[in-house]
Amino acid sequence: MSVDIAVVGGGPSGLFAALGLIRAFEGLTVKVYERAQSYRECGAGITLDVNGMKALRAVDEELYAKFQSTVVTDVSQMQSFDQHGEPIGDRSTVSMKTIIDNIKQKTGVGMGMIGWFDIQQMIFDALPEGTVEFGHAFTDLAEEADGLSLTFENKPPVKAKYMVGADGYFSPVREILHHDGPPEFTDTVMWRARFPWKPDSGLPKGPDFVHSFSGGRLQGLVYGLPGDVVCWILSAPVDLCEAQGVEYDQAQHSRSKQRRQISSYQNADEGQGLSAHTRCLKVAEIAAPQMQELVKLTDPGAIIEHGLFVRQAGELDKYAETGWGKGRITLIGDAAHPMRPTGQGMNTALEDGAVLAWHLQHGGLCEEAMRAFERERIPRVKSMAEQEYARGATAYKEDARAALDRVKTLPMSEQDFSDFNLSFHPSTLMDSWPTVIELTFWRGFVVVAPTLFDPPLAFAAA
Ligand SMILES: Cc1cc2nc3c(=O)[nH]c(=O)nc-3n(C[C@H](O)[C@H](O)[C@H](O)COP(=O)(O)OP(=O)(O)OC[C@H]3O[C@@H](n4cnc5c(N)ncnc54)[C@H](O)[C@@H]3O)c2cc1C
Repeated sequence: MSVDIAVVGGGPSGLFAALGLIRAFEGLTVKVYERAQSYRECGAGITLDVNGMKALRAVDEELYAKFQSTVVTDVSQMQSFDQHGEPIGDRSTVSMKTIIDNIKQKTGVGMGMIGWFDIQQMIFDALPEGTVEFGHAFTDLAEEADGLSLTFENKPPVKAKYMVGADGYFSPVREILHHDGPPEFTDTVMWRARFPWKPDSGLPKGPDFVHSFSGGRLQGLVYGLPGDVVCWILSAPVDLCEAQGVEYDQAQHSRSKQRRQISSYQNADEGQGLSAHTRCLKVAEIAAPQMQELVKLTDPGAIIEHGLFVRQAGELDKYAETGWGKGRITLIGDAAHPMRPTGQGMNTALEDGAVLAWHLQHGGLCEEAMRAFERERIPRVKSMAEQEYARGATAYKEDARAALDRVKTLPMSEQDFSDFNLSFHPSTLMDSWPTVIELTFWRGFVVVAPTLFDPPLAFAAA
């Protein structure tokens, strides 16, 4: 099998980059190689922010419109609770709709909440059939004269001219490029779940509410998603988990074994003995009663557990000049810049896809265009990672009100961060698609499409 671009990892970043590249070039063969056998409905929800929405629009206007009409924009019940389940402050009657409408007026783009799984599925559905090859666990690669040879567990090798590593937190592709080991464990464990609304959940039906739980060094969040789905997130420092009899072996979840990494997302129970549900229940014993009840009510199979791993924003400085890729290989999403999951991991992953596709469309399918993409991304994702790190790290306080006050300790004020976020202006991909240079190169000559590349026009024998 030979492809122009092999994307390793079929999470949101890999799928979206593939979509961008397919839109950017006529006749490009792009395949996504995903380790999982199929997708399963899991994860919680995410705010698809203005920057993520802009990225979607820059690549695919139709898909963007679908997201715009799917996301939840009208949350009218927002309430914070402490670890005992007591409300903190008044129930906010601020309508999210007013806030989102204002943002839309300012930026021309809306935003809203949606399930993590729904994002993945909607991008998958927008791809040409057969783009994603499931059951392909990437193991290694070799450089050859005219490209790369990728190997997979129990599957035939694939030849690719270029490669995108979109394989998440413990990216095997990154490990091959940089040998820099797994990201840093933040001593925090997180559980996420989603399920169809149940009358005995005690929650309103419909995606009209957000309940947050702070204090007792725990963080919880419960909210509705489109389609009467409820999702929740519970996270706790590892010492608190241990005090509840729940061990978390970070090495087990980040070790490299013949370049095959364990992702605790897909295999929440792997190596941990007890199921994710049982473990979460034990930790939930010290959470607010409402959270405890929800965990009890959740189908055990619907819960995923994972440790929170990050790379410190400062690590990106190393790559400011060289870019974080090498040769014919680039990285995107969590493989390139894993950050605390406070909202921007997914949005920056979508940014990556739009910016990568644009750079390759304008610079041509070449290493230099990949480096230009990386150099452009580094300052932005660095600022994002700094902000998200501080936002997440200061959340686990004993006192619930102090935990809520963490916004005062962030590197950027909320307003500055919002301005920074809105300052993302991806260029829309061109409609007149260039011919794929490398595709024709393989056949013995190079064709550079007129007006799209510099030099503007070249026909050369290879
Ligand atoms: C199952 C799951 C549920 C999640 N739920 C949420 C959520 O509810 N809220 C939230 O904020 N974030 C969630 N995340 C994290 C979030 O997706 C990422 O932080 C962010 O969206 C960046 O996405 P990504 O595509 O770069 O990485 P990921 O979403 O981690 O995707 C990486 C993909 O690469 C695949 N992969 C890994 N190794 C290999 C290999 N060797 N060969 C081939 N494929 C490989 C993985 O199976 C995965 O599909 C979830 C991630 C996963 C995997």
